[in-house]
Order: sequence, then C-alpha cells, then structure tokens
Amino acid sequence: MSRSAQYTVGELEISVVSDGEFRLDGGAVFGIIPRLMWEPVVGRENIDDQYRIPMGLNCMVVRHGSEVLVVDTGMGTKLTGVHRERTFPGDYGHLLDELAALGIERGDVTAVANTHLHADHCGWNTMHDASGKVVPTFPNARYFVQRGEYESATHTNERTRGTYFAENVEPVKAAGLLELVEGETQIMRGAAFLPTPGHTPDHASILLQSNGETGIYTGDLVHHAVQAERPVWIAAFDVLPLVTLESKKAFVERAVRENALLICVHNAFPGVGRLTELDGKRTFVAE
Ligand SMILES: [Zn+2]
Repeated sequence: MSRSAQYTVGELEISVVSDGEFRLDGGAVFGIIPRLMWEPVVGRENIDDQYRIPMGLNCMVVRHGSEVLVVDTGMGTKLTGVHRERTFPGDYGHLLDELAALGIERGDVTAVANTHLHADHCGWNTMHDASGKVVPTFPNARYFVQRGEYESATHTNERTRGTYFAENVEPVKAAGLLELVEGETQIMRGAAFLPTPGHTPDHASILLQSNGETGIYTGDLVHHAVQAERPVWIAAFDVLPLVTLESKKAFVERAVRENALLICVHNAFPGVGRLTELDGKRTFVAE
C-alpha cells in the first residue's frame, strides 16, 4: 500500500508521506475529555487492550521548482529499548523509502522544518551511517527550527526530557546545518512558520500560501482532527494548555475563513482535510 498522497496549494506540490504509525494512551491524547466522549470518535475497534489508540506519523513534502522541503521527519530508526517498546511502540521508520518512491533521494532535500523537537517529529533529522555514527539524514538541507524550541529541547526538565533526544538535533548543529529562527520566518517561497504555542512554548505550525490558496500543517496544535472541530479538546501532553486554546481558536478562524487545506500529523494517514461549517457546526471533511 502506498503511503504517500498528493495535493496542491496554488503552485506548491504537496505530498503527505507517512513514516508509519505508533500507539499512545488514549486518555493522554484527549486530556480532560472523558473516554465516554472520545471513544466513539476514535472507534472502539481502534483501541487496543492497553487503551492505546493509533497515531499517524504524517510528514509533509513541499516541492516548487528545484526546492524540496520536508516538514517533520517522523520517528526515524534510532529508537531502541524502552523507548521503542513502551514509550513509542509502533511500526515506523519508513520515511526514506516513501521519499524514494516519490523520486526524492536524501541529497535532493533542500530544507527541513520541524514544528517542534519531540521525538515523533524529528526522528529522521538524523540517522546512523554505515559506521554507526549519527549524522544528518539530509546532507544538503538547511534545518529550520524555532530558537525557543531549541532552547526547550536543550534545557529539559523532569517533565519534558522523555521526548527530547539530543541525537535528533546536535549532529545537525555540529554539521553547521541548523538554522535557528524566530516567529513567522519564511522557509521557502510559499512556506513559513506559523507560531502556534501551547503544546510547547515555541511550537509552530507551517503555513503554505500560493496563488490565493492556503494550507496549514498543524504539527501538534491538534493530535486528532476532532481537536480542530472542538478547540477545548486538548491533549494532556501540552505544557501550556490554555495557550493552546488561544492558538487553536485563531487557527480555526483562519482555517474556515481561508478554506485551508489542513494536514494533521497524527490522524490516520493521510490526515488531510478542510474545516467547514455545516449546520453551524465546524466539521473536518477529509480529502
Ligand atoms: Zn507528536
């Protein structure tokens, strides 16, 4: 089964490319929302005997001319031991194969952008080379990260250290490929950061704009599309949930107003759709 899907935003060619899937505790994904309410949304048949639910790892490729931008890089192949078995159980590490199927080799990628540096969003930033050394996966790319997010990743606390791994970032910095940016920085023509703090203090979605069309790669502003329909549904992972609420309200207004193509990283593949008003209710309509 192919794990990439094609879209356009104006002149930009968009591919949603899956690194695979993992499973997370459903209660954690839905925060204060009782299981009574989220279970019918997820579907009982999708919940395993450990109350875990499937989480997609939908990365985005944006192509325009010779530019190739990869947004978020999934879980990668470096996790082992307790992280692989307990924290992030799943079947993943497929991003490079999917890129190759699209005719994209590692050396073709000109830019990488991470919405944030949690382990499920930057795993393929780096990889083991033949000698076992961890090196940047995309040797010709500039890697764009919000400066504040880099600070969070490198100054962890008891709560955050379980998901920030130096091996996903430091080899990139050592190779001189890391671009620390602030706010609404442009990454390539038509693609820029859209700060959406809350999940982390400097979390940023990716805004696509071309020929009057809009696309938004959400990152972890939402962990499931229903959290766009219902802004108060916020994951327990968010370090600043009330900030998430404000970010999400602004995002939802814009998504509806501009009929934006939304790419939701953790929805079932491909996680793409638009938020539309149906009978006064905001509804995520998949594409
Ligand atoms: Zn995530």
